Amino acid sequence: MSNYPEITPIANKIIKKYDLCDHCLGRLFSKQLHLSSNKLLGKKLKKNLISTQKCYICKNLFDNLNHFLKLMLDASSGYFYTSFSVGAMIKPSIIDRDDCIRSQFKLKGIDSIKTDITKELGKLFSRKTKKIIDHLDPEITFTLNLKDELCQLRSKSITVSGRYVKTLRGLPQKQQSCDNCSGKGCRSCNFHGISGFESVEGIISKFLFKKFGGTTAKFTWIGGEDKSSLVLGSGRPFFVKILNPSKRNLKLSKANFDSLKINHLKLVHESPKNPLKFNSSLSVKISTESEIDSKNLKKLKDLPKNLVVVYDKSGKRSEKKVFDVKYKKNSKNSFTLIITAEGGLPIKRFVNSDNVSPGISKILDTQCTCQEFDFLDIMV
Ligand SMILES: [Zn+2]
Ligand SMILES: [Zn+2]
Repeated sequence: MSNYPEITPIANKIIKKYDLCDHCLGRLFSKQLHLSSNKLLGKKLKKNLISTQKCYICKNLFDNLNHFLKLMLDASSGYFYTSFSVGAMIKPSIIDRDDCIRSQFKLKGIDSIKTDITKELGKLFSRKTKKIIDHLDPEITFTLNLKDELCQLRSKSITVSGRYVKTLRGLPQKQQSCDNCSGKGCRSCNFHGISGFESVEGIISKFLFKKFGGTTAKFTWIGGEDKSSLVLGSGRPFFVKILNPSKRNLKLSKANFDSLKINHLKLVHESPKNPLKFNSSLSVKISTESEIDSKNLKKLKDLPKNLVVVYDKSGKRSEKKVFDVKYKKNSKNSFTLIITAEGGLPIKRFVNSDNVSPGISKILDTQCTCQEFDFLDIMV
């Protein structure tokens, strides 16, 4: 442990050889002395001697703090947030000169100049804006490029969950990626990464961009449906992560669009990491090749007795439970199946008996085709 009289001779030796600013000189010794202000210590060590030359290490970078503060204020002017952190990119030559002095005078355990300058800027910014410095999980992160005098801002993503109800056929669930950038985000898609706003994904994205700002919206769907399917009941749950939002508060819990209702909207910590288990209640319109025999249809009642085995294209095998089956004959060659099953059962293939066993075609011993299927409810 050092004390002030011990370090003065070393400090004097350094000042004799190099012109250093108060910040840089103070920084070399403040940790040993457990002092928090490098500037005040530097001033004291120099005995108020005014340097005539630029600081050997930083070339008077610290004289420019207000300019950098202004860059930070400008960059963050459109953002609503409570906490922030500051990072910096510094010219390698400054770091080299700092290292050179450390090794020449055998100085150890010293803050880097980057730490010092970001600390100072953090203090200034916090004083000016009343926002809180948070190094671990800040809402806004500044990265200052001190060499080119640029300030970059990154805003922590937010995640929203909700449910949607679709009452009109013809609206696809997903939006195609932008042709130009394949979803990465470019000028022509306004950095959203999508081709437009004509889908469930597009309508929800547009709404969220308006509410939160942000660039890209990344969806996690709990199951999927056809363009021609309705989604009724309490709706299909979804999670969406919004990158680079400028606002972070959600005041409303629902929104209505012509054929789409969004409800149960809330901010959540994150999207689920593993697929969520859910069950779906469906109404499936099925046409049959041969005429329907009502006795034959009764066989469908046995579906809950066994698991339905599904083979993927890749050969992966999974099992789905069917909980409940009802049916209604509509005409000689068509009937409606009302079924509650484990989420992820591929309905069209289940009807066709296409690598799904037992499938409806097999059970009824006639080729069946799914004309349309609607979700009556989705239970998570
Ligand atoms: Zn300096
Ligand atoms: Zn694009």
